[in-house]
Amino acid sequence: MAKRKRPKYAYEVAPDVQAMLEEIVRLLPDEFPHVDVRRVVCYRSRGSTARIYARIWSLPGIWQAALGVEAHYVVEVVERFDRESREEQEKTILHELLHIPKTFSGALVPHNCFGKKINCEAEGRLHAKLERARALEARAQADAQRILESYDLGRTTTSAK
Ligand SMILES: [Zn+2]
Repeated sequence: MAKRKRPKYAYEVAPDVQAMLEEIVRLLPDEFPHVDVRRVVCYRSRGSTARIYARIWSLPGIWQAALGVEAHYVVEVVERFDRESREEQEKTILHELLHIPKTFSGALVPHNCFGKKINCEAEGRLHAKLERARALEARAQADAQRILESYDLGRTTTSAK
């Protein structure tokens, strides 16, 4: 009997990457309104020798029909991704999200499509927008907290009378 080969790749779900992706989609609703994050699954793989940080996997229509499932995507990050800065990781995820077409059909948008490009420039522009949205959210949360605290303070003062 032939010796069983060890699997070349090891895959595991990546909840940390999933959270990062979901935050990006939530903070950029104008950019990714078509992305259903429940159908974008993030995985981490080990042992890949490809010179990439991440890739996105499609599920063509014929597979959806054969398996009786809706369109899904898998965003796979490799070990190199974990050694990147947070900013670079977010740009990598933005890059993969740009491959998802507006139709969320299961197919992929190529790097060059009708004059629109998926490249460093697009990633940089979206990342700047992400940072602004994050700062705005943080400020709104701080404002809400202040209002809440002043309300609580007011109540305490009133009830102490
Ligand atoms: Zn790409």
